Amino acid sequence: MIDLLKTKLKDILKPDQILDKEVDLRLYDTDATSLFKNKPALVLLPNTTEEVAQIVKAINLINNEYGKEQTCFKKSDDIHKLSFIARGAGTGLSGGAIGDKSSVIISIARLNKIINIDKTNRTAIVETGLINSALSSETKCDGLHFAPDPSSQDACTIGGNIAENAGGIHCYKHGVTSEQILGLEIVTPEGDIEYLGTLNPRSLGVNQCSLDLAKLFTGSEGTFGIATKAMVRLQSIPEAFLTIQACFDSSANAGRAVSTIIKFGFKPTAIEMIDAGAIEAVNSAYNLGLEAKIQAILLIELDGNNEEILHDASLIKEILHDENRKFNLIKYSETQDLEERKFLWKVRKGTVAAFGQIAPYWYLYDAVVPRSKIPEAMTAIEEIAKRHQLKLASVCHAADGNLHPNFLYDPDKDPTVIQRIHKASTEIMKLCIELGGVLSGEHGIGIEKQEYMPYMFSEDDLATMLNVRKIFDPQMISNSKKIFPLRICKEF
Ligand SMILES: Cc1cc2nc3c(=O)[nH]c(=O)nc-3n(C[C@H](O)[C@H](O)[C@H](O)COP(=O)(O)OP(=O)(O)OC[C@H]3O[C@@H](n4cnc5c(N)ncnc54)[C@H](O)[C@@H]3O)c2cc1C
Repeated sequence: MIDLLKTKLKDILKPDQILDKEVDLRLYDTDATSLFKNKPALVLLPNTTEEVAQIVKAINLINNEYGKEQTCFKKSDDIHKLSFIARGAGTGLSGGAIGDKSSVIISIARLNKIINIDKTNRTAIVETGLINSALSSETKCDGLHFAPDPSSQDACTIGGNIAENAGGIHCYKHGVTSEQILGLEIVTPEGDIEYLGTLNPRSLGVNQCSLDLAKLFTGSEGTFGIATKAMVRLQSIPEAFLTIQACFDSSANAGRAVSTIIKFGFKPTAIEMIDAGAIEAVNSAYNLGLEAKIQAILLIELDGNNEEILHDASLIKEILHDENRKFNLIKYSETQDLEERKFLWKVRKGTVAAFGQIAPYWYLYDAVVPRSKIPEAMTAIEEIAKRHQLKLASVCHAADGNLHPNFLYDPDKDPTVIQRIHKASTEIMKLCIELGGVLSGEHGIGIEKQEYMPYMFSEDDLATMLNVRKIFDPQMISNSKKIFPLRICKEF
């Protein structure tokens, strides 16, 4: 079937838009998860929405002529049905953009134009292969920005953000991706071009009417089709910023401080938490001079009107220093100076690079609990890591209750480490659900967590979700083997 598809593709794409050599396919065999790898059958590099649509139509045509019924999920070596996977920058952390030998990767990376910036209405229309930070760089001179700021924002695409409903450091105040998406142009799993939400058709030179389904599409992890253009909201760049760095003797005490600050009604733009393992890594990589007794750090950022943030900062300072609350604060610094703010943020933003000095691999896990349960969760995660002899280093979007335990590892030196990471991750997932959390804070389910879905959802829940999915994708060929446990897909 792949050879038949390649023949058909010759009418749609130029030879340099079709990658099928081993060396090229290996570049697309994983995302940023590090634990999962699988080569796709083909990688395609379309330049336009029309090319994406024609590719998807060609896949449908081959499936209709030569495919076999209901066999997309079969584990045999034969290819019974082709599926496709949209891919942005491949920075995903749940294996969502990883294929197999029956799937074709459709890279959206070349669809990266800014089509229109409307300063009056504070919106932009972009192709979804645009890198997240490229949009804010373009709108900065007008005092506007695209608010979702995943830590990968200099690499990841807006299409990937939409598919994963990405969050970020400053999303607690300004909202995650779904709050910023107004409309979408998509290529459906049947190869039609459709418009969802309030995307103004005239701006795109088309005259089709729209349905308000853009929110439903956001977070569907590529299983509802491929987003090719998006109308996004732009927000004002805040007038002033203030960064607080507060150092504690334990992540449990830092965690208590987070929920206390929010309980009092403050709305910082970010509260990030860095645990002992991550502090050790950045401290030695950048000589930050942090004392050994500092076991957790909070970075609290306030933005908005200058007077208001100075007022809020003074109250937060008072709360953190209040001895009756027993936060055991070791050190407190605050600044509005840009260079000093950057220095305080180094302890968070430099973590991934610093991890590389400790181990060649790092596995970032996405766990989430209600904010008030952070102390309990952090203590239990430390215990789990210790029991499985894993090097733990956590960086958390603490205001959202979104914990990111990282395991730093070297499988060449420690052959059983990957098995132990899987065991520890499963325990962490169960723990988070027991504490009232959910399966993912922002990285999605993908293949990483598909078998965990029954921890949280009943068979009826899963069947309902599959029914919604089948409205968009009746043949289940758009990122077909993701999100749902494979057993349930087969039965369904
Ligand atoms: C160092 C690091 C830090 C990170 N920090 C954050 C963070 O703070 N917050 C956060 O939320 N995430 C974070 N991530 C995860 C990741 O960057 C995001 O999930 C991002 O949105 C993925 O975008 P991408 O373009 O790389 O997508 P990919 O990895 O290419 O794809 C991810 C999923 O989206 C689907 N997809 C991609 N493009 C489209 C499209 N156009 N239409 C339909 N489906 C599509 C794919 O099929 C796949 O299922 C981080 C990752 C790294 C490596």
